[in-house]
Amino acid sequence: DEITIATVGSHSSLHILKGAKLEGFSTAVITTKDRDVPYKRFNVADKFIYVDNFSDISNEEIQEKLREMNAIIVPHGSFIAYCGLDNVENDFKVPMFGNRKILRWEAERDLEGKLLKESGLRIPKKYNSPDEIDGPVMVKFPGARGGRGYFPCSTTEEFWKKAEYFKSKGILTDEDIGNAHIEEYVVGTNYCIHYFHSPLKNQVELMGMDRRYESNIDGIVRVPAKDQTELDIDPSYVISGNFPVVIRESLLPKVFEMGDKLVAKAGELVSPGMIGPFCLQTLCNENLEIVVFEMSARIDGGTNSFMNGSPYSFLYHGEPLSMGQRIAREIKLALELNMMDKILS
Ligand code: ATP
Repeated sequence: DEITIATVGSHSSLHILKGAKLEGFSTAVITTKDRDVPYKRFNVADKFIYVDNFSDISNEEIQEKLREMNAIIVPHGSFIAYCGLDNVENDFKVPMFGNRKILRWEAERDLEGKLLKESGLRIPKKYNSPDEIDGPVMVKFPGARGGRGYFPCSTTEEFWKKAEYFKSKGILTDEDIGNAHIEEYVVGTNYCIHYFHSPLKNQVELMGMDRRYESNIDGIVRVPAKDQTELDIDPSYVISGNFPVVIRESLLPKVFEMGDKLVAKAGELVSPGMIGPFCLQTLCNENLEIVVFEMSARIDGGTNSFMNGSPYSFLYHGEPLSMGQRIAREIKLALELNMMDKILS
């Protein structure tokens, strides 16, 4: 029977759907009426599944529609956020590309830290309490808040001053402050490295890289330093876009090693491991150490920076290849080899 590649219309769905079409699959997008414009205008979806609210995507009725289409869901960040992690793990009974059990390992900071650390990757030094602060740190808080209330500081006194300030503005609660995650502030250049692990070919591919365009921090840096202090603007780190980037070639051995190590460790810790796309968000410091401050255990939004291929994905077959098309290609290969169980969960 014909297979349909389906996902929620958001995040990285344009090239997931386009890539599936290029590989000959039928495609479906789950969307609300007021958000369907890009999928119509770019003509990437054969079928539209409408919901009143994105929170309805885990409804039994939607699942039934997807099963009738013989759908494979490609989960991305917004899909997981709207569906809810518990639902994705236990109640969403539609075949999904990748290992759905690994998604919790990116969502929970302790699990994420464990996987990165045990993989032998360099991560920012963690401070257990504000009293330990002995140099520049980045302070983060729980929950998806788009970096609102995150702040850099260098001393214990400064920590409390800023925490109290954000509390007085209603941005942080005492509970947030008690759960503050304090880590080494890494001064460096940003590389979000997009990998693809093929369990069928048993290889880890470097698909592309982006750097983030974040509001308002990337706007603040356009304000001259002498005015910054006067304007008294609080930084936020809300992602609003991405730039494609390449890394100096001599760092590539390290980049491949990092991807290989993560895949090996993920296979041990959360079988069957990392399947398909994943991303390491890194900062490269002046000693050219690549420090990983965040991981995506599924397709990352930064892959939108290479919908028509990246310098790296081009190197494999001399063709422009997006992450979406790479996923569809793996599904096609699994169909040919009769090995769908290796790539779905
Ligand atoms: P998301 O999960 O949407 O990527 P988040 O709210 O979890 O965002 P992070 O990605 O961890 O936040 O951090 C937001 C931004 O803060 C980063 O893109 C980077 O610019 C900066 N940042 C994070 N950690 C550090 C660090 N250790 N040192 C310096 N800058 C950092």
